[in-house]
Amino acid sequence: MAKTILIFFGPPGSGKGTQADLLGQRSGWQQLSTGAFFRQEIKRGSRLGKLTDKYLKSGGLVPDVIIKKIIEKYLNQQRKSKVIILDGYPRNRQQQNDLVKILKKIFKSISRIYAIEISLSGSEAKKRLSSRRSCRCGAVFNQITNPPKKSAKCDLCGGKLFTRNDDKPRVVAARLKLYRSEIKPVIDYWRRAGRLIKINGEQTIKKIHQDIRERLKKLKLI
Ligand code: AMP
Repeated sequence: MAKTILIFFGPPGSGKGTQADLLGQRSGWQQLSTGAFFRQEIKRGSRLGKLTDKYLKSGGLVPDVIIKKIIEKYLNQQRKSKVIILDGYPRNRQQQNDLVKILKKIFKSISRIYAIEISLSGSEAKKRLSSRRSCRCGAVFNQITNPPKKSAKCDLCGGKLFTRNDDKPRVVAARLKLYRSEIKPVIDYWRRAGRLIKINGEQTIKKIHQDIRERLKKLKLI
C-alpha cells in the first residue's frame, strides 16, 4: 500500500501540535506527537520519563539516539497505516538523516512525504506561550486564542489548568533559539525537495486547519 507521511514543523507556540491533532482526528490518520509522548511518559513515571524529564524541563532536546528508537518502533507498528502524521520529529539534521534511513528500511513503497511548516514570528510565539495553559489530561488552551469556558479549568475533564514548565519565559527563549538553529537545515531539505507546505500560523486555529486541508486537497491527499 502506498504510504504518505506528513511532517509538522513550527516553533513552540505555533500550534503545530493542535493542528496535527485536528488533522489526525478529522481524517482518521495515525499521529505521533513526540513532545506529547515524552510528557505522557514523564507523567507515568516510566524509566523513559525519568530519563527525559530534565531535557523537557530545560527546553533542550532529548538525545537523538533515544528518539530514534521511539520513532523506529512507532513506524514499525504503523506499517499498515495509509497516512502517518509526525509532529515534532525530525528536529535537527541528524534526526532528518535518521528518519530517511528508517523510512527506507521500513516502507519500501513510500510515495509521498510532505513537510508542513506552520510559521510564526518570535514575538508572537513568546506572547502565545506565556498565555498557554495545559491540563494533565493532555488538553491545551490559550488565554488569548483558545480560552477555556471556565477560567483555569479544563473544558474536557474539569482539571486545574497550569503553565507547563517549558512555557516559562526563560525556557521559552531557549526553546525558540534552539528551534531556529537546529530546524533550519531540516526545513531547507524539504524546501529543496519541493515538499514544503508553508502555512501562516498567525491566524485562527480554524483558518490554519482550513489552509492545511486546502493544500492537501490540491495534492489529492484528501
Ligand atoms: P514539543 O511539545 O514538540 O514542543 O516538545 C516538547 C519537548 O519534548 C522539547 O522541548 C524536547 O525536550 C522534547 N522533544 C520533542 N520532540 C523531540 C525530538 N524530535 N527530539 C528531541 N527532543 C524532542
